[in-house]
Order: sequence, then C-alpha cells, then structure tokens
Amino acid sequence: MLSNRYIRLGTERSAIRELFEYGVRRKAELGADRVFDFSLGNPSVPCPEIVNEEIKRLASTDPIASHGYTSAPGDPVVRDAIARFITRTQGFPARAEELYLTCGCAAALVATLSAVVSPGEEVIVLAPYFPEYRVFVEGVGATLREVKCKGEDFSPDPEAIKATLNEKTAAIIINSPNNPTGAVYSEEDIRAIAELLNTFCRENGRTVYIISDEPYRELVYDDARVPFIPSYYSDTIVCYSFSKSLSLPGERIGYVFVPHCAREADSVYAAVAGAGRSLGYVCAPSLMQKIIPACLGLTADISVYNQNRLALYDGLTKMGFVACKPKGAFYLFLRAPSGDAVELCERAKKYELLLVPSESFGYPGYARISYCVRPEQIEAAMPAFRKLAEEYGLIKEIEDEQA
Ligand code: PLP
Repeated sequence: MLSNRYIRLGTERSAIRELFEYGVRRKAELGADRVFDFSLGNPSVPCPEIVNEEIKRLASTDPIASHGYTSAPGDPVVRDAIARFITRTQGFPARAEELYLTCGCAAALVATLSAVVSPGEEVIVLAPYFPEYRVFVEGVGATLREVKCKGEDFSPDPEAIKATLNEKTAAIIINSPNNPTGAVYSEEDIRAIAELLNTFCRENGRTVYIISDEPYRELVYDDARVPFIPSYYSDTIVCYSFSKSLSLPGERIGYVFVPHCAREADSVYAAVAGAGRSLGYVCAPSLMQKIIPACLGLTADISVYNQNRLALYDGLTKMGFVACKPKGAFYLFLRAPSGDAVELCERAKKYELLLVPSESFGYPGYARISYCVRPEQIEAAMPAFRKLAEEYGLIKEIEDEQA
C-alpha cells in the first residue's frame, strides 16, 4: 500500500521552492538581471580554492580510494581531524568515535531525530524556524510544537519553552545563527534554556535532548559569538554542515556529533548509525569527506555577505521598513508594513522582487530576504524596494517626520 504520510510530505507546497521556480520562469521572460531573486539560501561566493585543489589532488593521486566507499560512519582519518578541530576550537573534548558523517545537515537532523524521538513524542522548535523541520519531525512520526521567540530581536523565550515542555517532549531544536532571522542566541539565552531543561528533566525523570542545528556556525558579523551548546547542556547533539561555510550545498557533506557526556551517548550514537543505515545515508560522499581535513577552519569569503547585510539593512530601514539587524547567517527578516506578509510578497513581485512570506516559518507578518546574492543585485534592487516602500506610504511618513 502506498504511504499516505510520504505522499503528503512529497506533495505539500514549499513557499520557498515555488517562489524560486516562479523566479526561474520570470528570468527566462525578462532576463536574469531584471529579476531580484532573494528566495533561496544558496551561497553566492565560491568555495575556497583549496577545495578545488584537494578534489583534483585526491582524484588524480588515488582515484579508487577517493571515489570508493568509506566505512559507514565516515573515514576514520576525517572523523579524527574533525574531532581534533572541535577540541581545539571549542575547548570541548571530542573523539572520532563520536562523529558520524552525513549528507549535509538535513541528513544529520533526520538521523538524529530518528535516533532520539519515538512516534507520538513531541519536538519543540523556536519560531520562526527552517520550514523543513516540520517535514523532518513529522517524517519520524512525532509532533512539532512551536514556541515563539521574543519579537524585538527574535531571542528565545525561556518561560514559553518551559510552558510547552511535557511528558511527551523528546527534543528541542536550536538553530543559531538562525534561518530566517539572522539572530545569534546569547550565552545568557543558552544558559537559561539549559537550566530549565535540567530542572524539567530532573523533576520528571526524563531526557530532553537539544539538537543544535549549526549550518551557519561561522557566518557571524561584528562581535557576535556563537556559544557551543554542549559546553552548557550535556544532552546536546550537534548537527553540522559544510554547505554554507565552504559554499558546498550541492556536495552534501556534514556530520552528527554525539558528545560522550550526553545521556546514553553510546546508544544515541548507535541509533544515529542505525538510522543512517536504514535511511540509506551510510557513507557520506567520499571525495567530499576527504577534502575536509585540509579545509577545517576555512570559510568562503563571507565579507561579501557582511557587505550585503549592511547595504540591505541600511537601505531598507532608511526607507522606513522595520527589520532586526541580522547578527549571523545570510537572511534578513522584514516586517510587513500592513502586518500581511503574503500581501507584501505579492506586491513585491510587481517590482520583480522575490521575497518569501513568513507563514511557513511559523511566524506570520514578515518576509525573509536571502542576501547571499551578488552585491550588484542589492544595489540594482534598491529602486524596486523604494517603489514598494512608496506603495505602503513609508517614504512619505519619513519625509513628513523630517519636515
Ligand atoms: N538547517 C537550516 C537552518 C538550514 O537553513 C538548512 C539549509 O538551508 C539546513 C538545515 C540544511 O542544510 P544542508 O544543505 O547542509 O542539508
């Protein structure tokens, strides 16, 4: 019998993908330069040159091994290099046996959720959140529970998290730097979440894992610092990806890190490996695994994203739009002037601006702007944003205030 659950998950609309496809059609009609596509989080700067050099070196010196299977959880030398890197940079002890290499963060999240969540249990996500979380959580037969972040800077709301915890809660997904707000959760926020989870688990005899989803770990600006959550809460499982830091999203490489201090760590790791096996994720792309030791600590040129961030934030706020200045990742979350995000994004389309309405992020009233684009696109899009601001009467309001 066909799986109704998977038919539903496979046919449910994705606002981001639909908009992206609309952009493809529009670019074919008008020319790529006339459409201002801010829909997808696809990195716009090339990977560091050493990535290409390593690919060439590995493929030419030992093509059999480079393209062959590795051990199921990943090449031991690569896992050892990542473990040493975590130990050195985070001051947190990690070992190769605690790492499981995956096809990007998506596979890391699905394997982790499959390992620590049973059908009928609940997973808390902090809204706004990456829309695929719903698919991943429902895919393992669990229920997604949304907890809204605090409005001003989209920081977590510990009281609201506390009120949502119950005897079915198995995990909470934390994503900082955040997609779609660009928020970076402070050390104080992480400590507060750790404290309330520890109290809840102690009083109720339960384990609630934090799943730390970290594809944007290195993408931070100014003096923002990303706390390493296992240092604050021992029952944390880290899901990491090189998709954004190295600009390799299509190459599908990331990992799960199950720290030894996590409750039942050996069983959690075994379950991650078992989930990877049953889902067909064993042996992450071999060539991509093997470039990692030479690339640890490197990033693509993220100064371009910072330049875009400042140009976009300054440009839009001067026009009267309201947004929280992103501290990390490459997204800006823009408040819909009338409160209606769908209306904002439809009006934006008239000026060939492709913005994603925030409903699917679990937080209506905003539009997500992905600024991982060429800086010229931001500059060229400003007159279109201005027309949009005028349509909402924002420019006039500012001029009246200044008069
Ligand atoms: N988590 C978040 C918050 C993301 O934004 C993304 C991708 O955009 C992913 C996970 C998936 O990352 P990957 O491409 O490495 O599977």
